[in-house]
Amino acid sequence: MEVCGSHTQAIAKFGLKTLLPENIKLTSGPGCPVCVTSASEVDLAIKLSEKNIVTTFGDMYGVPGTEGSLSDTGNDVRIVYSISDATKIAKENPDKEVIHFAIGFETTAPSTAVEVLENRDLKNFSIICSHHLITPAMELLLSSNDCRIDAFLCPGHVSAIIGSKPYEPIAKKFNKPCVVAGFEPNDVLLSIYMILKQLNKSKSKVEIEYKRVVSENGNTVALEKMRDAFRVSDRSWRGIGVIQNSGLELKKEFDELNARKKFGLTVENSVDVKPGCRCGEVLKGLATPKNCPLFGKKCVPQNPVGPCMVSTEGACNVAFKYGC
Ligand code: SF4
Repeated sequence: MEVCGSHTQAIAKFGLKTLLPENIKLTSGPGCPVCVTSASEVDLAIKLSEKNIVTTFGDMYGVPGTEGSLSDTGNDVRIVYSISDATKIAKENPDKEVIHFAIGFETTAPSTAVEVLENRDLKNFSIICSHHLITPAMELLLSSNDCRIDAFLCPGHVSAIIGSKPYEPIAKKFNKPCVVAGFEPNDVLLSIYMILKQLNKSKSKVEIEYKRVVSENGNTVALEKMRDAFRVSDRSWRGIGVIQNSGLELKKEFDELNARKKFGLTVENSVDVKPGCRCGEVLKGLATPKNCPLFGKKCVPQNPVGPCMVSTEGACNVAFKYGC
């Protein structure tokens, strides 16, 4: 399983599946950050956009919540390249509330942490903190009875932050090879070769193929910033459910920047997966996009039914674009 959406993209773009023998199957996992963001959080962002400026990344803009996406609202929703653009908007609009919808894995969490640490006095700014941690999801997949995963291509971007050590308990406990892979075609192929060598020797350990970026210990400065700003919490994964200790919440001392607490809004009866959509199974590697009856018919990138059809890293969007 490739855990990262950028790997899914690279594998399709370079036609790597066509180079592999029949008995090696690559399957996408829960590594597209907007795909796993729960509908209730999209619904909350939509509700907050009714009276405030909401900022988020371009991929999140079109992700459907229970009814429509941020792009459907006609409200003041602004696409930003980073959270620092959002704090800039807040400083330029002191008479308006600005709420940043902070999503993503450990790759984007450090920049959220830095802005939180540096802007705790910014009175008209807050965030919906919706960061996910990848290794608890990998453990959950391996713990399920229907797991068919033999090994992981571990995400390069996330691993640049967390390093390779957090995968060691997974390799050991579940006896599954884990190789941290880069994103060039040769990186992916070499990583698969490294996995096969382990499987042939019945070994399971963590190796780094992407050594030009990833180290064992990761980016210690970024990890420290994350520890300063966040606490680990349970998190809901779209189509998968709540996974223990798989999310990051702001620490209590940053309550004034926590949009959930600041506005006291709640949303109820959100619908993560629409009838017929198989995003949950796609994210768990139990179905391919083409197994979904809506793929390419009712669900297309211009009119997505589920989140996996929205982002360029989503498995269904990739399958639609590259036909594989
Ligand atoms: S094709 Fe659309 S409806 Fe089907 S699983 Fe993918 S995103 Fe969901």
